[in-house]
Amino acid sequence: MAIDMLGAGLTSQRARDRLIRQLAELGIRDPAVLDAIRQVPRHLFVEEALAHRAYENIALPIGYRQTVSQPFIVARMTEALLEGGAVSTVLEVGTGSGYQAAVLAHLVDRVFSVERIRALSRSARELLTRLRINNVSLLHGDGAQGWPARAPFDGILLTAAPREVPHELLTQLAPGGRLVAPVEGVDGQQQLVRYTHTAEAFVRDLLDTVCFVPMLSGAEQ
Ligand code: SAH
Repeated sequence: MAIDMLGAGLTSQRARDRLIRQLAELGIRDPAVLDAIRQVPRHLFVEEALAHRAYENIALPIGYRQTVSQPFIVARMTEALLEGGAVSTVLEVGTGSGYQAAVLAHLVDRVFSVERIRALSRSARELLTRLRINNVSLLHGDGAQGWPARAPFDGILLTAAPREVPHELLTQLAPGGRLVAPVEGVDGQQQLVRYTHTAEAFVRDLLDTVCFVPMLSGAEQ
């Protein structure tokens, strides 16, 4: 293959379109979600040495022993969060590279995202600014506390797996809102669960079996 001076090559529009076709074949139906994934340059969010694999449907390292989920899981979680009612504000727990936040930024009015590793939060902020994505607010802290000053949220997304969804997060969910999270199961398997805040209760449904990094307590300095 000729050297591509513009850095297109495997991160080209063709590679992105191929990924979108795969996601559609895997069952992602929401055209807005597919379009958001087509637009966000995932190769800028992953470790540079693996940027050429950014449009494959695989999880990739983002530094600090963390990973960004495979695009199918990002799409699936985003779709599960959005279906069933208008979503204007979303809280994400686990900013990581900022990729999921960037995808959400294309779909909702305002994204708030909390990350416990300061350096990840900082580089996510730099990248989002560079991409001129200006409806995402980031906070360095323990996501188990949510972001009380900005609550309630129409949607809450956890991208690290707790043993149980912290109660504090459910209290920050607006009526009608949905929380999507990977939760550690009894047999070491994680389940993707969705809680819907209805008039009577929090209704819980199971979506998929998944594999996320664990949610840790407290913020790192
Ligand atoms: N959404 C990210 C994926 C991040 S991986 C992306 O698109 O790149 C999960 C992230 O959750 C890691 O960065 C990890 O540091 C963070 N995390 C784990 N426990 C946390 C907690 N209690 N509060 C905030 N972030 C947490």
